[in-house]
Amino acid sequence: MVVHRTIFLWGISRQDFMSDKCYLNHELQHIFQFHQLGTFRFLYSYLKESVLRGYYNNKFEVEARAAETKEPEAEFIFVSVTRYFLLGIICH
Ligand SMILES: [Zn+2]
Repeated sequence: MVVHRTIFLWGISRQDFMSDKCYLNHELQHIFQFHQLGTFRFLYSYLKESVLRGYYNNKFEVEARAAETKEPEAEFIFVSVTRYFLLGIICH
């Protein structure tokens, strides 16, 4: 789960998360979505999408799932948000 620039992990270690490229790309895409829309606009839009379309068809989730396997973009995403990512990871 992503809130602003922080990825919150439950049920997975940071090490396992970092080695799961699909999961990593998915969450990084959500960080980009926060960045693109701003925190409050993203949260509002995400909730609205969830109410109207449900979790699976929420356009932000569709976009994040599409990012999971896009290799070149995934590398670009990782490089581009490294600053946020390193500041943001919290493991539970
Ligand atoms: Zn997601």
